[in-house]
Amino acid sequence: MPNYICTVCGTQYPESTGYPVDICRICAEDRQYVREVGQEWTTLEDLRPTHHNEIRTLEPNLTGIATVPTFAIGQRPLLIQTPAGNVLWDCISFIDDATVEALNALGGVDAIAISHPHFYSSMVEWSRAFGDAPVYLHRDNEPWVMRPDRCIVYWETETHTLLPGITLIRCGGHFPGSSVLHWAEGADGKGAIMTGDTIMVVNDTNWVTFMYSYPNYIPLNKAAVQRIVAAVEPYAFDRIYSSWWERVTKSGGKEAVHRSAERYIRAISD
Ligand SMILES: [Zn+2]
Ligand SMILES: [Zn+2]
Repeated sequence: MPNYICTVCGTQYPESTGYPVDICRICAEDRQYVREVGQEWTTLEDLRPTHHNEIRTLEPNLTGIATVPTFAIGQRPLLIQTPAGNVLWDCISFIDDATVEALNALGGVDAIAISHPHFYSSMVEWSRAFGDAPVYLHRDNEPWVMRPDRCIVYWETETHTLLPGITLIRCGGHFPGSSVLHWAEGADGKGAIMTGDTIMVVNDTNWVTFMYSYPNYIPLNKAAVQRIVAAVEPYAFDRIYSSWWERVTKSGGKEAVHRSAERYIRAISD
């Protein structure tokens, strides 16, 4: 039986004979959208003849992976190599043998951690492809897990040390369990955060933003923005990787978060 994938958000559902739901549950809420043509589905088998994953080194021990042509939301997960093991941060729907071979050549994937439900995608397929690697999700986002599985490990605290130098930080905001990853050794030891779209680097990469819904342009309130800033404040970081190739603040990341939060709160205040 196929595991259908929503073509708009890329979420894969459990095996089913027919379409799993009338309208994708991730898309049928304010943070996503349903196209005018209505719900459309695909499968990994259908995608494989026409898609592949592009793999790029971003800095020492950091590799980005993104599907070509762009599929669904089009995010770019990251593989972080550490002496204690490799972590895949965030995930995408498309996976094939070439991707698995390329990442195995870098030492494989020991653990997967995902910022929020828009990037849960085909997480179970990725776990299986890398020896049943555990998939770390924040418990507060469990209601949005469409394909529950034994590979999922829920963390429930405000922070979770995944490996030495790799910490998951719950920020909330976009989703109650929206999280970022702090990589202490990143950016030549100055530290990096990987933010999904919890903290989104914008076109001028010296600035970031914070939104409840990106497709529908729904902002967060002041308290939510302040909470995100406070959550990352204890961690040293110079660089910010949000979820697309070009959305990277190369240096001055912490100042960019402060400056951007001030600008944002000014704009939404009376
Ligand atoms: Zn969807
Ligand atoms: Zn999102």
